[in-house]
Amino acid sequence: MTALYGNRVVVTGGAGFIGSHLCTRLVERGSEVLCVDNFYTGSRQHLAHLLGDPRFELLRHDITFPLYVECDAIYNLACPASPVHYQFDPVQTTKTSVHGAINMLGLAKRLKVKILQASTSEVYGEPRVHPQTEDYWGHVNPIGPRSCYDEGKRCAETLFMDYRRQHNVPVKIARIFNTYGPHMHPADGRVVSNFIVQALTGQPITLYGDGTQTRAFCYVDDTVEALLRLMDTPADFTGPVNVGNPEELRMLDIAQCILELTGSHSPLEYRPLPADDPTQRCPDISLARRELGWRPTVGLRDGLTRTIGYFDRLLSSAPAGRGEGRGREEIAAGR
Ligand code: NAD
Ligand code: UDP
Ligand code: UDP
Repeated sequence: MTALYGNRVVVTGGAGFIGSHLCTRLVERGSEVLCVDNFYTGSRQHLAHLLGDPRFELLRHDITFPLYVECDAIYNLACPASPVHYQFDPVQTTKTSVHGAINMLGLAKRLKVKILQASTSEVYGEPRVHPQTEDYWGHVNPIGPRSCYDEGKRCAETLFMDYRRQHNVPVKIARIFNTYGPHMHPADGRVVSNFIVQALTGQPITLYGDGTQTRAFCYVDDTVEALLRLMDTPADFTGPVNVGNPEELRMLDIAQCILELTGSHSPLEYRPLPADDPTQRCPDISLARRELGWRPTVGLRDGLTRTIGYFDRLLSSAPAGRGEGRGREEIAAGR
């Protein structure tokens, strides 16, 4: 039997953290990839290994504007994802989620091709159901500092389901939980990147709140595998489907694990918990297990070791002039 979709794949946000790994996997398995990115948070350096490959093309484009290209499938990942980045220009964040989704859905509708949305566990907000199942509608503040992202992503899910109901577009929705790994932005303010950079540079580990809030962390290779499998499901499977690692951890545990793996003596420094920061989050992945035959395979210590190696190389290369374009001190200071 032929593949469920053709070989020309658009990846929006392909220069970002998850998108760059997805582009690499797609090229490796023989797809022709058009990466569409405005480099708001992404970097060409994440794609350097693909730039000479005839199956890979990179287009600078903002998806809040229409895009007329030809393809057989679309992965819509474009959107800043860390609180620091998505709150920097919240109006643009909502525009990217909503206008961007409309444009990419318009593209999918015209071409009659599958489109996958990178949604998020943030649609559950401060959850009252734990662990979160896909039928839980969430508990989200519509007017807080995280709302541009949470509500933008919720509206995008609505648009995806309405394009399905109204125009029969074959849509797929992945609700991605916290993902980590190489190519995370060193100054994105996310917990894993912050703690690793702080540990490697001997700065205090900044714990927000009392450190007992929980998250569940999935290594990027596992997340990408789930996205590929979701795209390959039959047209009648839309999701939403949770993609995450159901091993729930306190931020204190993450800090201790990173200190141990780096051999760092950085002290812990407690800071106020940001507004609307969810106190607990953990996916129920029964649906992904059943429908995608998927479960995470990379354990936390293994994944963190690989991620620490990446940041160590990034920081070591910084004094020579490049480290995401900044010097070692700037990276360490989060600038
Ligand atoms: P990222 O910030 O590293 O990547 C996002 C990419 O989108 C960047 O390359 C950025 O330049 C690009 N982009 C932003 N706005 C754009 C626009 N208007 N037009 C074109 N490109 C644009 O983030 P990530 O962690 O790789 O996340 C990728 C997707 O996965 C996002 O949609 C995010 O919401 C979702 N997600 C990520 C996580 C996670 O833990 N990393 C969790 C849940 C959901
Ligand atoms: N669109 C796009 N590329 C396409 C087709 C459409 O960017 O190949 C955009 C188009 O600009 C439109 C949006 O997608 O604003 C939604 O398209 P749709 O067909 O749903 O809406 P309409 O064009 O009828 O407003
Ligand atoms: N966090 C922390 N110290 C940091 C950065 C984040 O304690 O330096 C906490 C943050 O308050 C949240 C958790 O770690 O409770 C995960 O934060 P992140 O921004 O990585 O992801 P999100 O909140 O979007 O799940």
